[in-house]
Amino acid sequence: MSGTLYIIAAPSGAGKTSLVKALLEREPDIALSVSYTSRMPRASEIDGQHYHFVSRQVFEHMAEAGAFFEYANVHGDYKGTARAAVEPLLAAGRDVLLEIDWQGAQQVRAQWPESLSIFILPPSRAELERRLRHRASDSAEQIARRIADSRIEIGHAAEFDFIVINDDFATAINDLRSIFAARRLRCEAQLNRHASLLDDLLKPA
Ligand code: GDP
Ligand code: ADP
Ligand code: 5GP
Repeated sequence: MSGTLYIIAAPSGAGKTSLVKALLEREPDIALSVSYTSRMPRASEIDGQHYHFVSRQVFEHMAEAGAFFEYANVHGDYKGTARAAVEPLLAAGRDVLLEIDWQGAQQVRAQWPESLSIFILPPSRAELERRLRHRASDSAEQIARRIADSRIEIGHAAEFDFIVINDDFATAINDLRSIFAARRLRCEAQLNRHASLLDDLLKPA
């Protein structure tokens, strides 16, 4: 049985990168797909760990060659998930998490309808803007662009299977873990995982 493909999206600054990092420390069996981007790295970002940083030209060649599972232009930069980061893992039964935008989420749902998608909302607009500014990693121009784009992103929240509010960080982590737990307990997955238990329980007396 193939693994589960999880999608997490949010307006920039809602806390998805922090949540995903904390979540994966607690859920070591879920693989995180490292995206490709044509954006310049932030001071804190490491190539190959936060993103694979490539030029626009290299990104466009990869797109033409069909290397991407999905890709989109996000806040003026290309962002994309490589097929190689997803397809072999799912086929081997691993769960994979994608941190992508609403456009990518639409493309993934179309190709992989069994995927499960989660949208993260900030507790208020004031707090979203405070977090974006407080992060101190982007220029004033980039922050303004992300604030403007946040309305477009949030406008797609209703397309997702679950919505989590990232007000208190620990509560949001618990909510996310509940979603993963519920997915693992679905009938199909449990019947598969516990086939021998069922055989045993159904054995004639
Ligand atoms: P941040 O969200 O402010 O930390 O800024 P980033 O530049 O790291 O990401 C901006 C947006 O790009 C976010 O909404 C991400 O979800 C989205 N993004 C990142 N990687 C991918 C990807 O591989 N594909 C798509 N479609 N979107 C992505
Ligand atoms: P995103 O990846 O969605 O752009 P980040 O994970 O970079 O967001 O978070 C943006 C900023 O908000 C970071 O400085 C982060 O430490 C902070 N942050 C994240 N979650 C919370 C929270 N629950 N309460 C307060 N600040 C938060
Ligand atoms: P502390 O600095 O004491 O770990 O956290 C103070 C508050 O900030 C907590 O309520 C925590 O939930 C929240 N917080 C904000 N950003 C983050 C983050 O990126 N990670 C974690 N763990 N908590 C965060």
